[in-house]
Amino acid sequence: MLKDKHGRTINYLRLAVTDRCNLRCFYCMPEEGIDWLGREELMSYEEMLHLCSVFVKTGIEKIRITGGEPFVRKGFMPFLTKLSQLDGLQQLTITTNGVLTAPFVPELKKIGVRSVNLSLDTLDRNRFFAITRRDELPSVLETLEQLLHHEIDVKLNAVVMEGKNTDDILPLVALTKDLPISVRFIEEMPFNGDEAHAKSLGWDHVQILETIKEKYPAIYKLVDPPFSTSFNYQIPGHKGNVGIIAAYTRSFCGTCNRIRLTPLGDLKTCLYGGSVLNFKDLLRSGATEEEIQAALYKAVNQKDLNGWVAEKNNTGRSSLSASMATIGG
Ligand code: SAM
Ligand code: SF4
Repeated sequence: MLKDKHGRTINYLRLAVTDRCNLRCFYCMPEEGIDWLGREELMSYEEMLHLCSVFVKTGIEKIRITGGEPFVRKGFMPFLTKLSQLDGLQQLTITTNGVLTAPFVPELKKIGVRSVNLSLDTLDRNRFFAITRRDELPSVLETLEQLLHHEIDVKLNAVVMEGKNTDDILPLVALTKDLPISVRFIEEMPFNGDEAHAKSLGWDHVQILETIKEKYPAIYKLVDPPFSTSFNYQIPGHKGNVGIIAAYTRSFCGTCNRIRLTPLGDLKTCLYGGSVLNFKDLLRSGATEEEIQAALYKAVNQKDLNGWVAEKNNTGRSSLSASMATIGG
């Protein structure tokens, strides 16, 4: 079992398989001038599979694949299929922008992916273009339809951005009336690949909830599942539910059970912290399984108490001005 020095059990790995993306969400990366990682710098699928198998033997039970956009990396589905066959892995999930995902949904179902997080900040095609700088809303909606059709659980993630999509909060909530999905609103974080981005938060979780309550005063709080990063709510008579993720105000750190591996192989024990160890380098230096396990135990043990402490200690290369696509969200 993996435990940190604060007594938290760590059993959840978020693995970013690429930094590349077919959208350019302005809160995540700049429109142009992005220095993509070179092929040699990226972990290969074989390296990721090897690390995941050792991590699972060491106590990781759940893996979420993220990016960049996972489906833009060549060979992604064969990799995912192999990953789904790892002994001891209890849950395999994906976070995707849904642009290329729809045709793969039957295969996702077949290999046992039971839940997908689909990122969608607006239902309005013009606003979608303004936010993502690409006209891809129809493909994302097709992915949503396919996921529902194949009875894969959907969490629809929307980043709430002042002056951009706050008018979308209620239409997105309205989706929960007839669809059995969880619509989750995320506070915008400063990771957009831009040093100059304001570090202050526009809309926080309180303001998001107030907006929903004005229209749906009967909304009530649900009991949050263990390790939930969202505060969860139900509107009476709705099939789905609503979540709010205080990603910037960081109220969920106390029960954090996760670590992150970037496409470069950097281990981050907190979203707001720097890299604590590079597992690709360790692997390429010929480390044995036991050495990898020992390195993981040690790194996890040192996990910071919360995102504020991690941010204060963060002097490494993954600073807050990094793009979320190099971290994985
Ligand atoms: N490309 C995939 C997608 O968009 O779902 C996976 C990677 S993306 C980095 C993972 C999640 O991070 C998405 O739900 C995205 O909305 C969220 N994200 C990216 N930048 C963010 C930011 N600055 N603040 C809050 N959430 C952010
Ligand atoms: Fe791409 Fe996801 Fe970042 Fe948007 S949030 S630019 S879809 S990686």
